[in-house]
Amino acid sequence: MPTATAQALVDVVRATGWRTAVVTGGAGFVGSWLCEQLLACGVQVVCVDSFLTGSPRNVEHLVGQDGPGFTLVEADVADGIPLPRSVSDAGVDVVFHLASPASPVHYLALPLQTLRAGSHGTENALLLAAEHGARFLLASTSEVYGDPLVHPQPEHYWGNVNPIGPRSVYDESKRFAEAVTSAYRRQGVDATIARIFNTFGPRMAVDDGRVVSTFVAQALAGEPLTVAGDGSQTRSLCWVEDTVEGLVRLAASGHAGPVNIGNDVETTVLELADTVRELTDSTSPLRFVDLPEDDPRVRRPDLTVARRDLGWSPGTPARVGLERTVAWVSRELQRVPAGA
Ligand code: NAD
Ligand code: UDP
Repeated sequence: MPTATAQALVDVVRATGWRTAVVTGGAGFVGSWLCEQLLACGVQVVCVDSFLTGSPRNVEHLVGQDGPGFTLVEADVADGIPLPRSVSDAGVDVVFHLASPASPVHYLALPLQTLRAGSHGTENALLLAAEHGARFLLASTSEVYGDPLVHPQPEHYWGNVNPIGPRSVYDESKRFAEAVTSAYRRQGVDATIARIFNTFGPRMAVDDGRVVSTFVAQALAGEPLTVAGDGSQTRSLCWVEDTVEGLVRLAASGHAGPVNIGNDVETTVLELADTVRELTDSTSPLRFVDLPEDDPRVRRPDLTVARRDLGWSPGTPARVGLERTVAWVSRELQRVPAGA
């Protein structure tokens, strides 16, 4: 029996008439939850992924399950988006473009792949949407605001980004992705832009260096928690199912975007470290490490537009999501011990 929220989302999707969705980056963390949600809403899903930072394991439970149908295509979207003939012939109704490295550790190690995913990859995804007359959603990011001088960040803020610093490979690829999406929209593609803020939950790669997965794994292993800088920098953490609901609601609306999708409850990194230690019953000490270059000092979405125009806001307190994430990381570490 679906919850009232889940049923409301099914109704929103049914009203769009979507039959087939393409999800690039669908074997990643957020993408795998999105594929799952679309299938639950009765939409056939074609997931296109190169497994650069994701894994087929994230979607293996979707292959062959009863329902509208799930297809996994291995491809680098920067080179093109090959679809099975049957899907091309029947048509695509909506394209969600998520393919891109997303964690700082990943994009700093994969600078050129990140730039190509945001540039060539985004244009290829837009061309696919144009060919099919499909709705298009770009998964952009709060990183387009850089180290923000306006707080919290509303969509009309243009940001404070270093175009040549190490993070620029991600920030500027997403800013280019927003620009090319806007250009195609002006030429008639029904495109929108979601600016996703820090999202967490099961299926984040445990070794991807992001703060939630790292702290939880460290606390469970009894290792020191690596706090960058003095830990006073802030983030606002959104449970993955809330983020995915926001993405689906935005795509299902006629909204041009950009729309911030995230949680607006802000926490310092130090507070997060304390919460994780409490939830894991850990006595791990803190280890202060260098703050990465251009690490944003603060981050919190202004959610006025999402609340007003999509009727969406995140319903899951971070603490509840963190409890679920601790349980999941714990199982992952038993499956593959850290460092193995
Ligand atoms: P992830 O690394 O888990 O997933 C990204 C997926 O894209 C992976 O499966 C990867 O293999 C795939 N991919 C990367 N480059 C590709 C390419 N060239 N061709 C095909 N597939 C490719 O990251 P995530 O956290 O799930 O992020 C998904 C999207 O959401 C990204 O676009 C990211 O920028 C955006 N986003 C995420 C967050 C967050 O907190 N998780 C915040 C802001 C924006
Ligand atoms: N961070 C930290 N310790 C870690 C990993 C990250 O203190 O082991 C900090 C990081 O410097 C940043 C915040 O946590 O200030 C969020 O980092 P993350 O990599 O999760 O995502 P970002 O928001 O920077 O993209």
